[in-house]
Amino acid sequence: MKTPTKSRRRPGAISPNSVPSVPPWFNLRSQPRGSGGNKTTEARRSRRESKDGIGKLVELLMRRSRRGGGLFFITGTDTGVGKTWLTCALLVEFRRRGISAAGFKPICCGDREDAQRLWKLSGGGLTLDMVNPIHLRHPVAPVAQKCPSWSTLLRKIRGALFEIRKRNIRIVLVEGAGGLLCPIARKHTMRDLAKALGGPMVIVARDRLGVLNHTLLTLEAAGRQGCIALVLTRFGKTKDSSQQSNAKVLRSRVSVSIHEVGIRG
Ligand SMILES: [Mg+2]
Repeated sequence: MKTPTKSRRRPGAISPNSVPSVPPWFNLRSQPRGSGGNKTTEARRSRRESKDGIGKLVELLMRRSRRGGGLFFITGTDTGVGKTWLTCALLVEFRRRGISAAGFKPICCGDREDAQRLWKLSGGGLTLDMVNPIHLRHPVAPVAQKCPSWSTLLRKIRGALFEIRKRNIRIVLVEGAGGLLCPIARKHTMRDLAKALGGPMVIVARDRLGVLNHTLLTLEAAGRQGCIALVLTRFGKTKDSSQQSNAKVLRSRVSVSIHEVGIRG
């Protein structure tokens, strides 16, 4: 008979077994291809494609986390492409599988909504200031407003990350602000922050006309730190004829793992 292993979790740490309740705005589904089909067929296809999207991405991150420190940097080809949505979806899926995971939004510009969403899904033990150590007033790039220097930014961000990691959390998903080359200090961009924090990148791109160029540019900018996965997001029922070929073209040009997910509008 197996003897129960003693928990090494610190008091206040996230319980890997407590799956957070999904907030009303969060509505994950896979994107059905084409139209038609009865409800059962669509539900079956939806489940299968959901596994292909978020499920396979979680499995990939788990494999990588054994080699690295379990930290992943989620960036995008632009703002508003679904970074927060993806990060939340991953947090829910990790915790559904009993794996402790936390979101981290180092810099918020304007409101703090993204950080609050990640915070709620990261469960107890963390404060909003740990999940989001830098909150700037205006919804513009950090460098375009009153913002701490690079060294102060980095010190505060590393301090908050240290507090999160102390809580025995296995996976930390860092969500960048804006795109990868968004300037965050006089001589630094989000890419420098990604490099300073370490961990491979996941790039999020919106599956629409123009995504090929945006994605290839971002992959080039990611450079040696490397991107382990590319996630193409589709919002609501918006159709774009380029969606038929975007993933295929990207697969023929880059070796990175590509995941397609739909977001119900
Ligand atoms: Mg966001």
